[in-house]
Parts: sequence; C-alpha cells; structure tokens
Amino acid sequence: MKDCIFCRIAQGEVPAKILKADEHVVVFEDIAPRAPTHLLVIPTRHLDSLAACRDVDRELLGHMLATAAEAAREVGLEEKGYRIVLNTGAGAGQTVFHIHLHILGGRPLAWPPG
Ligand code: AMP
Repeated sequence: MKDCIFCRIAQGEVPAKILKADEHVVVFEDIAPRAPTHLLVIPTRHLDSLAACRDVDRELLGHMLATAAEAAREVGLEEKGYRIVLNTGAGAGQTVFHIHLHILGGRPLAWPPG
C-alpha cells in the first residue's frame, strides 16, 4: 500500500534497523522502544490487522510467530523471557494499520498489561 509506513519499510523505501528478513517477513527495531529490546515483525504483504486475516493467511501468521521466536533467540531474550504483543484495532492500541508483532524483552514485564 502506497501510504503505509510498514509497506515502505518492507520495500526498502524507508530506513529501519533490520535484524532479519526473508521473502515473507521483516524484523526490525521499533523506533520508540518500550523495553530494552523492542522488535517488530511484519509481513511483506499488506494486511491491516489480525481482524483482517482470513483462512488464506494462516500460514503467514504461523511464519510471523515462528520468526519472532527465532529473532528473540538470536538477540538473547530466551533465558529471561519475552512478550509477543499483537495490538488489534485502535481501541487496543494499534496505531499502524499493517499487522505487526511486537517482541518486548530485557526488563520485567508486568501482567496484566495496561
Ligand atoms: P501499534 O501501536 O501496536 O500499532 O505499534 C506500532 C509501532 O510501530 C509503535 O511501537 C511505533 O513506535 C512503531 N513505529 C512506527 N513507525 C515506525 C518506524 N518508521 N520505524 C520503526 N517503528 C515504527
């Protein structure tokens, strides 16, 4: 999508600190980190949100989650733990309407989240 910031990052049109990428997903650092480690996992294909996903997107969603686990392992978050967040809809805090997983770690994470 032309005006989507995450599509532009996936296409290399907007710079980002990219940790890993393949044909289907990109993992990069959040620009305004909420934890010592704060990464985002996005699909290269535009999807507004989890609510917009359909049956055809199941494999991609699984790949995003598996890639998040790999990235967390690679940056050393496994031992102390980390949190995956998927804000869905403005009421849940979604501000960028291109589906993304947050990977948060490196500090104690309270439960329940605010
Ligand atoms: P959400 O509020 O769940 O939609 O999360 C959107 C996230 O994207 C926020 O944590 C922002 O800090 C992050 N973000 C927005 N623009 C950029 C950007 N250009 N590069 C990296 N992260 C971004």
